[in-house]
Amino acid sequence: MKNKVRFFQSVNFKIAFSFILILLISIEIIGAYFIRGLEKETINNFTNDMNQRVSILSNSLGTTMSQKQGTDTSWEDIQQLLENNSASDIEEMWVVDDKGIVRATNDVGRKDSIVGKKNEYSDIDDFSMKQYVALDDDSNKRVYINVQPIQSPTGDSAVLGALYVKSDIEQKYTEISDTAIIFFTASLIAGVISMIVALLVARSITKPIEEMRQQAIKIAQGDYSDKVEVHGHDELSQLAETFNKLSDRIEDAQDTMEAERNRLDSVLTHMTDGVIATDRRGKVITINEMALSLLGVKNEDAIGESILTLLDLEEEYTLRKLLEAQEELLLDRSKSDLEEDRMILRADFAMIRRESGFISGLVVVLHDVTEQEKTAEERRQFVSNVSHELRTPLTSVRSYLEALDEGAWQDEEVAPEFIQVTLGETDRMIRMINDLLNLSRMDSGNQQLDLEFVNFNELVDYVLDRFDMMITNQNKKYTIIRDFTERDLWVEIDTDKIMQVIDNIMNNAIKYSPDGGKITVHLLETHNNIVLSITDEGLGIPKKDLEKVFERFYRVDKARARKQGGTGLGLAISKEVIKAHKGSIWVESVEGKGSTFSFSLPYEPYEEDWWE
Ligand code: ADP
Repeated sequence: MKNKVRFFQSVNFKIAFSFILILLISIEIIGAYFIRGLEKETINNFTNDMNQRVSILSNSLGTTMSQKQGTDTSWEDIQQLLENNSASDIEEMWVVDDKGIVRATNDVGRKDSIVGKKNEYSDIDDFSMKQYVALDDDSNKRVYINVQPIQSPTGDSAVLGALYVKSDIEQKYTEISDTAIIFFTASLIAGVISMIVALLVARSITKPIEEMRQQAIKIAQGDYSDKVEVHGHDELSQLAETFNKLSDRIEDAQDTMEAERNRLDSVLTHMTDGVIATDRRGKVITINEMALSLLGVKNEDAIGESILTLLDLEEEYTLRKLLEAQEELLLDRSKSDLEEDRMILRADFAMIRRESGFISGLVVVLHDVTEQEKTAEERRQFVSNVSHELRTPLTSVRSYLEALDEGAWQDEEVAPEFIQVTLGETDRMIRMINDLLNLSRMDSGNQQLDLEFVNFNELVDYVLDRFDMMITNQNKKYTIIRDFTERDLWVEIDTDKIMQVIDNIMNNAIKYSPDGGKITVHLLETHNNIVLSITDEGLGIPKKDLEKVFERFYRVDKARARKQGGTGLGLAISKEVIKAHKGSIWVESVEGKGSTFSFSLPYEPYEEDWWE
């Protein structure tokens, strides 16, 4: 963009050069005609003048020679005549008699060596008239040779001799070439001046163009701050004005685009779904915050990466397959098998098509469906659990009834036992269905808590008293130890439900404890909670199951729990009840040593005189 235009390639140079070229060609043509005309004129003038002078001289020579024919005085007169007629432009002048003997010359210095001798010039030999320009061998100058026969002025026109004149025509040529030199010097000066003028004119044209070019470069770099200066009202200034308007328009369009992009960016940033856009080769060009956090990658790592690699799909899919399928995919992005690391993403794919139908990229929308998937899976699990749990007691009821039907009813020993078992199983099923109904009510939020202020110490005492009473009825022996805070703890609870929770935990403690085990019940308060924990000396719960005992139908040892008449729903219900009270429930256990189930409830200590 910034590359400089070389001077010889510039418009500046081209305009100036053409200007000068035209000028030089014109000067050359004019000069050639002028010089040629001048030369013709000058040389013609010179030769005409010379011819005339020579002809006049030869006439007077003819007269003199015919009057004083053959006498020495006549030759002297003739010599005198030549000397008189000699001029600066005449180099040599001879008069030859009819025998070819030189009789007179204008060159006084060489007179003696020439006069009386045979002439040296063959031009004179035939006494005819000759007029021509020749190059003089001695002086190496151009000379005009003029040979004129000298005739007697009388009627017979007899040839008396010849006049030979060699004149210096070279000076005329020198004059012409001097004029030519002046002419060319003048045209050279004119050339230089016009070159400067041309450069100035060209600059005045190219300067605004160069300014516009610079401005265009700036615009290309996104700088709209400058404007091209507008001088005058010519086409270039109109172009500059249009250019400035164009620059404004581009700036406006750029601003609108920028605003649009910002809006899109902020929409993308604040979207709760992850959005990824790729180019047509599937390389990521845009990715929003949500997508980055869902995929656990950094922006700089994601940009330019293939979408297939980013989503771990390169083994199953090619880009073409993905484009053709255009389906939604479930991506398992779980970091480990742990529940908290689980992550399921739903990816919806859409192609970006131009109006021409050309596919220019791909948009992927990522949605975190971990919870949905978990719920769906739980629901499936729950239905399968319920069916399974109900089928087992039903199967056993059915087999007992079959046995009875087949005649066992008549057997007085087994019949009552069989009937007892079927009744027990039916009771368990009823219990289970009641539990399920309870849970379902709590799930749907239909269960209202019947809150009242209760002295919690008394409530726990009351429940434990009942268990103490039951010891005598049961075949399993146990001891309940109470370790309560001395302070009366008043809490706002749904008494029946909380009693159900304590019952549950106590029942489990007894159920899973060995005969004669100790059950310790602690009641204490913290700053804003009360905590009830029930510790048994039972078989305990393996570490891996600790979290799961609060799940529906979860039992550590299924067969054994069932034998104990458990439904696997007790702790699940307890958890829901405590949750509804905004408390929490947890378990600590050492396998083989025993377990501690605890729950806490919110509690506000009140001043003693609050009631008064
Ligand atoms: P269940 O009706 O089977 O007792 P719960 O929901 O009350 O159902 O308990 C779930 C499971 O937790 C039980 O099956 C048992 O395996 C385990 N569990 C509960 N309490 C104790 C305990 N005190 N000691 C040992 N395991 C227990």
